[in-house]
Amino acid sequence: MALEQEVVEKFLKENPTFTEKYFEKVLSPENVIGACEGRGLVDFSTFKELCQVEESEMLFELVQDMQENINMEKVVFKILKRICTIIHADRCSLFMYRQRNGVAELATRLFNVQPDSVLEECLVPPDSEIVFPLDMGVIGHVGQTKKTVNIQNVDECSNFSSFVDELTEYVTKNILATPVMNGKDVVAVIMAINKTDGPFFTSEDQDVFLKYLNFASLSLKIYHLNYLHNCETRRGQVLLWSANKVFEELTDIERQFHKAFYTVRAYLNCDRYSVGLLDMTKEKEFFDVWPVLMGEAQPYSGPRTPDGREIQFYKVIDYILHGKEDIKVIPAPPEDHWALVSGLPTYVAESGFICNIMNAPADEMFQFQKEPLDESGWIIKNVLSMPIVNKKEEIVGVATFYNRKDGKPFDEQDEVLMESLTQFLGWSVLNPDTYDKMNKLENRKDIAQDMVLYHVKCDKDEIQEVLPTRERFGREPMDCDEDELRMILVRNELPGPNKFDIYEFHFSDLECTELELVKCGIQMYYELGVVKKFQIPQEVLVRFLYSVSKGYRRITYHNWRHGFNVAQTMFTLLMTGKLKSYYTDLEALAMVTAGLCHDIDHRGTNNLYQMKSQNPLAKLHGSSILERHHLEFGKFLLSEESLNIYQNLNRRQHEHVIHLMDIAIIATDLALYFKKRTMFQKIVDESKGYEDKKSWVEYLSLETTRKEIVMAMMMTACDLSAITKPWEVQSKVALLVAAEFWEQGDLERTVLDQQPIPMMDRNKADELPKLQVGFIDFVCTFVYKEFSRFHEEIQPMFDRLQNNRKEWKALADEYEAKVKALEEEKKKEEEKPVAKKGIAP
Ligand SMILES: [Zn+2]
Repeated sequence: MALEQEVVEKFLKENPTFTEKYFEKVLSPENVIGACEGRGLVDFSTFKELCQVEESEMLFELVQDMQENINMEKVVFKILKRICTIIHADRCSLFMYRQRNGVAELATRLFNVQPDSVLEECLVPPDSEIVFPLDMGVIGHVGQTKKTVNIQNVDECSNFSSFVDELTEYVTKNILATPVMNGKDVVAVIMAINKTDGPFFTSEDQDVFLKYLNFASLSLKIYHLNYLHNCETRRGQVLLWSANKVFEELTDIERQFHKAFYTVRAYLNCDRYSVGLLDMTKEKEFFDVWPVLMGEAQPYSGPRTPDGREIQFYKVIDYILHGKEDIKVIPAPPEDHWALVSGLPTYVAESGFICNIMNAPADEMFQFQKEPLDESGWIIKNVLSMPIVNKKEEIVGVATFYNRKDGKPFDEQDEVLMESLTQFLGWSVLNPDTYDKMNKLENRKDIAQDMVLYHVKCDKDEIQEVLPTRERFGREPMDCDEDELRMILVRNELPGPNKFDIYEFHFSDLECTELELVKCGIQMYYELGVVKKFQIPQEVLVRFLYSVSKGYRRITYHNWRHGFNVAQTMFTLLMTGKLKSYYTDLEALAMVTAGLCHDIDHRGTNNLYQMKSQNPLAKLHGSSILERHHLEFGKFLLSEESLNIYQNLNRRQHEHVIHLMDIAIIATDLALYFKKRTMFQKIVDESKGYEDKKSWVEYLSLETTRKEIVMAMMMTACDLSAITKPWEVQSKVALLVAAEFWEQGDLERTVLDQQPIPMMDRNKADELPKLQVGFIDFVCTFVYKEFSRFHEEIQPMFDRLQNNRKEWKALADEYEAKVKALEEEKKKEEEKPVAKKGIAP
């Protein structure tokens, strides 16, 4: 409600009683001037040129403005206009104090206010501010010293800087300037320049100036407090964002980031912000290290975090708050993603600095995208970027804020708020040491309970099925010595090396019971000669094998039979395929054990299904979800004293077998197969360069990385070995694999309400032969071809693979022919009536 001067005058003249009463009340020291830190009453007697009415009228307006809306600029503008008139200054200006990057500065807010100015002309838009650092100019000096100055001649003043004069083609002669304080803090600086009716401002002018400015000061303080208050209230609000789509794409930890940052944006008041999450792994996965060790990839030479991690933003969350609000999650963002392309987040992650950039397009150090980011036309203006640090002072991510909503640059308030938030986050949410552990513990506990429920451990009665000590000696196994146990097992209970063809690539489990497979498994440990060598207590060995067999669920394909088959193929590759020549007995022990455990507790559904169904496993492990679980499950069994076949290894041996099991089991994730293909091929090529086998074996035996790569590929060869079995076996097993896929497809339809892929769609069962041919061509052929090339002893696998391809191809062709015939028949049917019509007269 703006009051016209005439209206006020008229009103006051017509209502003398009101006028008198009102001003008595409003202008009481308590009400107005008393608020100005007891500087005393305005001394009206000094304003000789002003009559009482004029003065009262102006004050009335000011008070009105201050009460109605706290439009600081409007109130101060009016005061400055009035000051110009009273003290005969040519012009007045208001500079606001703020801090950026820890450095204080003063920026023009109201510039060149003259008695006849209009607000719009004097109000400085954020993009055309003149900014004074505190060490520059009279303004800077006033902000620094917090003292009023009255400079009678700028030429004699060392602080004066003429750059604004040069900019505005104006000649400053004398200056009166004062800071506006809030307690000890500078809020603003107000300046009057060039006395128009004298050589300089007098001390009387200075008194008037200061007294009048009490009003401006009050308004500025309210403004400042209001800003602080807003920050404070918003700080207390916890805004939760419930966009399910976004939550689905975030892990539990990332959700904490998300919640926290959604809260911050409320008081940062910016157009956009993005949070880049940094990879926290200090040690890289084996499959990423291999290419460097093999000389195929350059070691990382890019920037690193202060604690030495490679700077990899594995995920960016973009918050778009202008126009239509939106949140985007970008997993594995490309380097030229707009939020990363400037290099600022990387710099912040490297240095740990808070960076506050006022004019982003003009910045020389960082190249921000200058064009609009999208069709909304939005462009980057101001940027505030800061590291997110956990309690261990590791940088876990970088938050970057763009364009404060009010158009002003980010200031000290923003920096302080963000910093305190960062501390809060580091303390509670983003401390991987506590939170992450707690989170993992929660999930681990669930999984552990699940395992206990499944009654994995072999019990007292069950062990008698393999190790019948009661029948033989009338004792429990624990009361027998190793020789007695060995006698029972090797002489009587175990099948021996030949009964079930465990040394053969064509071994089939189809004729065996599950218990016989347990016994075959134990047999393999004896064949490897590791029972005696590594002092595996035989009761423990039996219990371990039995428990592993029980650890597999009774599902269609990924059951104990599959687990055993993989171990048996590993055994055969080592022994019959002669790959053992490169590995120690200890390593062979680890590899066969890895084979046995590699799919333990499989649920008959793949990794993608675990993610889509939000299985706790998917929350626990970021990649190779099931494989990591099989590994943990296997290690969990081995951590039980009664099952720990490694219990008599020394520390170094123990570390080595666990290291190999880690690699071997994770390597069964087919998603990693393509990463190791060429490296394996290179090793095979390398072997062909050696004249005699002996020197090659000597060489490879010492090449740790190469041996690990070969082992990883052996695991794949074992895992897929059903495809290399005689056709009678393969044709049956392929149906089991397919049946399990179809079961997952059914789950996807019923539980997830999604259409399964053709491979998992039982309605497309007829396409199985075609899918098998594709699988052989795309994945399997390479593996067995290369292994046959590597060691000719492995040729039988490749031969059977090729035979199976022929069989599947024949079936696929047969089916295709049938479909084609049906289609042609259909076509003929359709054409018939047309032909008849043609003939008809
Ligand atoms: Zn498997």
